[in-house]
Amino acid sequence: MTNLTDLGVADIRDGVAAGTFSARDVATAFNAAVEQGRALNAWLVETPDHALVAADAADAARASGDLKPLSGVPLGIKDLFCTKGVETTAASGMLKGFVPPYESTVSGKLLNAGAGMLGKLNMDQFAMGSSNETSAFGNVVSPWKRNDGGNAALAPGGSSGGSSAAVSARMAPGATGTDTGGSIRQPAAFTGISGIKPTYGRCSRWGTIAFASSLDQAGPMARDVRDCAILLEAMSGFDAKDATSLDLPVPAWEKGLSADLKGKRVGVPKEYRVDGMPPEIEALWQQGIAYMKDAGAEIVEVSLPHTKYALPTYYIIAPAEASSNLARYDGVRYGLRDLPDGANLQEMYAATRADGFGAEVKRRIMVGTYVLSAGFYDAYFTKAQKVRALIVRDFEHAFTQCDVLLTPTAPSAAFGLGEKSDDPLAMYLNDVFTVPSSLAGLPAMSVPGGLDTQGLPLGLQIIGRALDEQGVLNAGLAIEERAGFTARPGQWW
Ligand code: GLN
Repeated sequence: MTNLTDLGVADIRDGVAAGTFSARDVATAFNAAVEQGRALNAWLVETPDHALVAADAADAARASGDLKPLSGVPLGIKDLFCTKGVETTAASGMLKGFVPPYESTVSGKLLNAGAGMLGKLNMDQFAMGSSNETSAFGNVVSPWKRNDGGNAALAPGGSSGGSSAAVSARMAPGATGTDTGGSIRQPAAFTGISGIKPTYGRCSRWGTIAFASSLDQAGPMARDVRDCAILLEAMSGFDAKDATSLDLPVPAWEKGLSADLKGKRVGVPKEYRVDGMPPEIEALWQQGIAYMKDAGAEIVEVSLPHTKYALPTYYIIAPAEASSNLARYDGVRYGLRDLPDGANLQEMYAATRADGFGAEVKRRIMVGTYVLSAGFYDAYFTKAQKVRALIVRDFEHAFTQCDVLLTPTAPSAAFGLGEKSDDPLAMYLNDVFTVPSSLAGLPAMSVPGGLDTQGLPLGLQIIGRALDEQGVLNAGLAIEERAGFTARPGQWW
């Protein structure tokens, strides 16, 4: 029999339904993989019993004929999602020991659909980062290695690096991620898996620890496009508890999958050809264009003229919103409290925040407070909001000429741990291709496109019109079928 941990979400769902294997066997196999993979530091909390209880419920549901859409599928949950009764820290010392008395809407929907939880996944602290090195509980190590024999430890991407490492190392068939400026897509690209950020508002933000509320979106990370479609269907939907939740029906994305792109126009934005882009990334992009043509699409060059302002705009708006969202961590309501002897209230706030937040989080709070301060508000924050509107308009104009856009996901393959951690600007540059669609709230996905000369995965990004997740998934499927990406990391852990 095949190794159960080699199965994806659809395989497990269908195999459990057909009685090919039991959900308990699947959960047991993944629980063992989680335990065996501890060297990767992908999990902050392991919840094997949770996975087993859900598996037993799935096996009972099969016997009584009422299987749910994800019965028998165990998943990893990024630690940004509050999980009832299970410690949730957003990988920050600030929330150490916080056990939510409620379940986030997104994780709750997955569990209600029959999924089990293998554990909570490590991430960049409060989802701020691109390499997972800002976690207060140690970085995640990518399961991938360069083929140069150097054995360097690589970044799994961020901020959903626990999710990407867990899925690519076969410790989970799928996982939740969140994407504020690329945190689903870039880690998916770094580890040779797929991930989709839906249109802003598709997934409820309720119970997901807030980073930058006008940008944050949940989405799935999995081995292939079909699995992403299945998970996204279960995660999406209107929620009255989130004022920005879209009150729209959830389309049947899995049923709608088709890799036939005849009659579709694929836009290639010329401004994404950035200075210093490695030739391998350019070659990957050309290969992606060839795949799209082969699938029947027409290729059109389009222009997104304000692309070069997207990164600075994002790094004003996201910290501004973060500084406001993170004001709630004051030592009174959740998690950590530092109360030095004889300290007054103000001193307690200061001591708690100095101790609880990591360096990157503090940097963002300071930048955010600065751009929102009385003297600088108009020069920075208001200006950034105006530029954001121009970026939105760029996309609207491009989508009069094409149906989806094709770009690389990241400007490089995975970099080494420690390589960029002392240089925030170099780290921020990693988000150059992912932040524009985040600012515009558009659905965007990364699918594996090939390997670089070092044997590391490279991702292609598809960006769609608002609400056209189907178009994005279908273009992703067209690439997946042609790229035939089967590479996986050798098991060294
Ligand atoms: N890397 C980006 C940042 O550090 C994106 C993070 C995210 O999408 N959560 O802000």
